[in-house]
Amino acid sequence: MKIAMIGTGYVGLVSGVCFAELGFETVCIDKQADKIDGLERGVMPIYEHGLEEMVARNFAAGRISFSTDLAGSVADADAVFIAVGTPSDVDGRPDLSAVYAAAREIANAVTGYTVVVNKSTVPVGTGAEVARVIHETNPDADVDVASNPEFLREGQAIGDFMNPDRVLLGVPSPRAGQVLQTIYQPLKDQGAPVIETVRESAEIAKYAANSFLATKITFINQVADLCERAGADVDDVAQAIGLDPRIGSSFLKAGPGYGGSCFPKDTRGFASVARDYGSDQEVVDAVIEANENRKYRMAERIVDAGGGDLRGKTVAVLGLTFKPDTDDMRASPSLVIVPELQRHGAKVRAYCPGGMGNASEMLEGVDFCDGKEDAAHNADVVVVLTDWAEFKQMDLVQIGQRARGNTLIDLRNLFDPQQVLDAGFTYFSVGRPASQ
Ligand code: NAD
Repeated sequence: MKIAMIGTGYVGLVSGVCFAELGFETVCIDKQADKIDGLERGVMPIYEHGLEEMVARNFAAGRISFSTDLAGSVADADAVFIAVGTPSDVDGRPDLSAVYAAAREIANAVTGYTVVVNKSTVPVGTGAEVARVIHETNPDADVDVASNPEFLREGQAIGDFMNPDRVLLGVPSPRAGQVLQTIYQPLKDQGAPVIETVRESAEIAKYAANSFLATKITFINQVADLCERAGADVDDVAQAIGLDPRIGSSFLKAGPGYGGSCFPKDTRGFASVARDYGSDQEVVDAVIEANENRKYRMAERIVDAGGGDLRGKTVAVLGLTFKPDTDDMRASPSLVIVPELQRHGAKVRAYCPGGMGNASEMLEGVDFCDGKEDAAHNADVVVVLTDWAEFKQMDLVQIGQRARGNTLIDLRNLFDPQQVLDAGFTYFSVGRPASQ
């Protein structure tokens, strides 16, 4: 069984190397030559725990290769996965041009029966359209188009791929189902549930899963607002409701709003595509709006804590990525909050354990610092934006000594309020009363 993976980003590279690890001969293809050159030299284009070692091991064993030559690489593959980006376009609809471009290239390159598998997150109906594009481009192509959405999370991508909660296969024919069942047999043998369904169900399930998770986050964020006003503690409320198995305790952590490369674009994509089918997703529409507003409200909270006018003031921002253990800055709340602080006159000094490289290309006028202590130097306000373990463990007394002011705003509830007060700070967190 030979596998070709088109798109060597977070999903394609991780999936490709995991397939190689499971014993399949895999080629990862990308049109960015620098990525492919780097990978051949052992340089990873993204940070993901354990990735470099796994790539090196499988490269040395000859199970994985890298190429910019799509046509040559897919010719003798049994399955060709499409794992290219599907970003939002200006009106929130998913931009599927990379998917269809890949489909056209595949059409002219395949030989023999081939299953083309959409791993990118795409709206319902895309699999059918990919099949149409392939058959229009090359009527002789012997191809089935399946859907196999990916549920891995950045930061724990390899673990998620190798131990999935479920593998979802949307197949147009028993023959395509058989090929995908064979590819996932090693994971099935380890106990992974494999759901085989029609292509449309698989496509809707991926969007629905991300939209539901975004809804949970947004819900608890709104509960947090009420807790602050009513003198309650959102962490206790979340624990109390989360122990009900009908609710579940994950994704009930209040914060500055969801971000990242998936939830913002997939909620928008779900809502806009559902509208095309005459099925308005009013819950998801409300979630999108509430999450957007929240990022601005979090910025306002920092401005207020800084006295309402940040001119001449310095804000230390700790954490820029949308979550810890990744270098991904796409749609991170920091991309709204930092410019808002600057608009109110603040000088921003920032440090992020993983996001500095990408952030320096996406945020202007920020002093990027060598560490959290450096960022806190002469700061009037210290803000924790991302829950990196490094921040949870930091010495607050030392941070306080470096800072000029004594305000700590923790948008991730990393600290026990008493601990922060003992370190000499006035403390604002999320969904808990301010402590001073
Ligand atoms: P990415 O931007 O990191 O990687 C996409 C890669 O595809 C890029 O390297 C790009 O150069 C390459 N590419 C685009 N068109 C190509 C073509 N015609 N030929 C060869 N290469 C091409 O994207 P990602 O984060 O890996 O996401 C890919 C898809 O998976 C998206 O639909 C996303 O929604 C979905 N997804 C992402 C995650 C995640 O955590 N990042 C999780 C699940 C699903």
